[in-house]
Amino acid sequence: CGIVGYIGHRDAYPIIIKGLQRLEYRGYDSAGIVLFDGEDTHLSKTKGKVEDLKRKSKATIDTNGKLGLGHTRWATHGVPNDVNSHPHYSNSGDLVIIHNGIIENYESIKKALIERGYTFESDTDTEVLVNLIEEVKKKEGVKLGQAVQIALNQVVGAYAIAVFDKNKPDEIVVAKLGSPLAIGIGENEYFIASDASPFIEFTNNAVYLEDEEMAIIRIGKEIKLRKIKDDAIA
Ligand code: GLU
Repeated sequence: CGIVGYIGHRDAYPIIIKGLQRLEYRGYDSAGIVLFDGEDTHLSKTKGKVEDLKRKSKATIDTNGKLGLGHTRWATHGVPNDVNSHPHYSNSGDLVIIHNGIIENYESIKKALIERGYTFESDTDTEVLVNLIEEVKKKEGVKLGQAVQIALNQVVGAYAIAVFDKNKPDEIVVAKLGSPLAIGIGENEYFIASDASPFIEFTNNAVYLEDEEMAIIRIGKEIKLRKIKDDAIA
């Protein structure tokens, strides 16, 4: 399982596909990618290899975009199939997430969300998390970073996540507990990956998140690192 992300001035697609291939050694059963082309998101995912994802995405989606997330999944909740593969959208379609790890208390959260009218396409714990973030964001009226922080404080489990809002496509929020997550810092560009191999050819300036740490990655800004358990992000 692995995650790769990019935000900057280059085409995200080749960086993400190549990056996912470099992370194949970690093991996986499915792969997926989402790209933001300046107006909308385009998502492709499939059971199988990164090579299968490459073939499918090239044939079915617009692969342009300077912002994107890619994922290789090692299924823990829900069988390996196309629908359960990541990335996952929230119900509104605004938020999109990739996740390595396990949300142990996803069932009780899912139940509460269903009572509030949320619906689920997949059997994953991950789709529960992205909708919890959406619910917190709406209910509390907070920004994405703060919504992620509040949501993660309600979660028991392990994770490396990356999430963005297609209405605010200058920003990716990442967080880690248990699973690894590195951020590569370039000039007006950022890379995200499970280890540095996907971005080593672009920058050797990397930050490795510690457990219970999160970061708001915004173009044109320094990375904001926060402890998930700290007081709410302003
Ligand atoms: N628990 C998530 C799922 O089953 C993520 C698995 C992974 O680490 O790839 O979809």
